[in-house]
Amino acid sequence: MRYCSRCTYPIIAVNLSMNDEGVCSGCVVQEEKEKLDWKARENEFRELMESYRSKDEGNYDCIVPVSGGKDSHFQVWYITQVLKMKPLLVTYYTHNYTETGEANLRNISRVFGADHLIFTPSLKTIGKMNLATFKKTGDMSWHFHCGVWTTPFQVAVRYNIPLIVYGEHGFLDLAGQYSFSDRPEFTMRDRKEHYLRGYDWQDFVGMEGLTAGDLQWARFPGDAEIERTGARGVFMGVYVYWDGNKNAEEMKKFGFRENPEPYERTYRRSSNVDDIHENGIKDWLKFVKFGYGRCTDHTSKDIRLGIMTREKGMELVKRYDHVIPEKSLQHFLTMTGMSRDEFFRISDTFRDPRVWRIEKGQWWKDNVWGEASAYGEVKLPKEAWGKYEKKQR
Ligand SMILES: [Zn+2]
Repeated sequence: MRYCSRCTYPIIAVNLSMNDEGVCSGCVVQEEKEKLDWKARENEFRELMESYRSKDEGNYDCIVPVSGGKDSHFQVWYITQVLKMKPLLVTYYTHNYTETGEANLRNISRVFGADHLIFTPSLKTIGKMNLATFKKTGDMSWHFHCGVWTTPFQVAVRYNIPLIVYGEHGFLDLAGQYSFSDRPEFTMRDRKEHYLRGYDWQDFVGMEGLTAGDLQWARFPGDAEIERTGARGVFMGVYVYWDGNKNAEEMKKFGFRENPEPYERTYRRSSNVDDIHENGIKDWLKFVKFGYGRCTDHTSKDIRLGIMTREKGMELVKRYDHVIPEKSLQHFLTMTGMSRDEFFRISDTFRDPRVWRIEKGQWWKDNVWGEASAYGEVKLPKEAWGKYEKKQR
């Protein structure tokens, strides 16, 4: 396993590539970000937004998808207070909100005086989706990603509001998947291949008794509807300098709240506050699959910003990346009725053999700090061990 020589990412993470000096694409694009003319970009954004402003106040100017977090607050602050526009806030409600996340979600429309549409899928359906997508994709939060990248477009075509303004482009920021000069926008290819891991709603029909009718909310509008309305998703972070840490600090003045207690899996308290699984088992499964977790994401970002040393980053990764998040795990087991043992058994089927090997009945992997360590007992049946046993360093 190779790691970036500058941050803490393994090369296998978030579609990274690595240059000849062993520096990852995320670190390279961060350098590019620091050199851009952000004033000019902001003007470009203003022009883009102006071209969508409703002429006679007959409709909303744009849609802003919000989870309620620090970046949602920043988006809505900027669009309502700086640009003086009328957005319709749209939320796909995950059923996994924490108390603080729920308070943040309610705060955002209140404090900025915006209308807010919260779409709540059936809890019964989401319970089934949690099970089906965990078994098939190793990600119980699949429905969450699907909702975030579907509900705003369904609303766009139904309400005739063509412009959807997302916040940061996640893969650009973490992985340098594109250059800022590409000005990446939402594409259906990104939706399916990256955010939805190559699956779509049809893949789950028939699992756990799910019907096509249960999954209305998961269907992306047809081409004709998109063309008729001109629906388009842009990312504000491509035009307005994005600093998540600063957004969190600034937005506290408007009532945004951090998680009141420390997380089990990372040191940062201002990110992923809304959804119990985001810093919980969904993220632990990322560690199981690809050998890194949220703490690697956070330390890599902070190292790139120059506010943390790589040594400190590695120390934190060592402390947090492997930890089993009990609260989120309990929430999932209660919602689905799955046993703890079955959960770990299914999780093991998603281990990537590029990361994991089996020695003496234990899972082993290399680490960013240069040593290999064991991470618990193998729950896979013996006949499935082959590809992990042969795979020595
Ligand atoms: Zn890097």
